[in-house]
Amino acid sequence: MWSLRAQHLMLNQTIAQTQSYAATLIRDGMRIALAHSITGIARGQLLDLRKSIHGDDAPMHGRMPNDTMAYIKSGQSPVALATVVAVYLDAERKRRSPVEAFMDAWSVAKLFADGATPIDINAAWYAVRDVKSGWVSWNFCKNCKAGFLLDTKQTKKTDNCPYCGMQKQKRHEVAQ
Ligand SMILES: [Zn+2]
Repeated sequence: MWSLRAQHLMLNQTIAQTQSYAATLIRDGMRIALAHSITGIARGQLLDLRKSIHGDDAPMHGRMPNDTMAYIKSGQSPVALATVVAVYLDAERKRRSPVEAFMDAWSVAKLFADGATPIDINAAWYAVRDVKSGWVSWNFCKNCKAGFLLDTKQTKKTDNCPYCGMQKQKRHEVAQ
């Protein structure tokens, strides 16, 4: 058994770590509602954090896409979003917590930012959420082994891999 003091220390470390994650998410433009659902930190605290990071120039989020496919239609790269999901699922298999897995995925996604259409952190989170909830299917190409996203409402005809073009892909079941 850990001593109570050790438990308190561990809890404090976890809280500090989560707050540091939240600061990164907010700095990189995540909406308060999403940062709240990932970190569990109270909205009021996140609003204060955003004010301290962005000052009064905090980006205002009006009507924005609120699912993966809407983000892809608005110009987000399906390949970049698939990369986020792949890293997330891999981190999750290594028993990282959801927030840790997303931080891993996001740090990889940032490496892919080419400036043309920078990946939106909100879109990145929606891609993970939508695959986990089954709204977007996670496909795995038997030919080139790449994972990619597919709208579950889409017809089978367009089921080809965006990397190698191979058709008739296997749907990979993601544990909910
Ligand atoms: Zn392929």
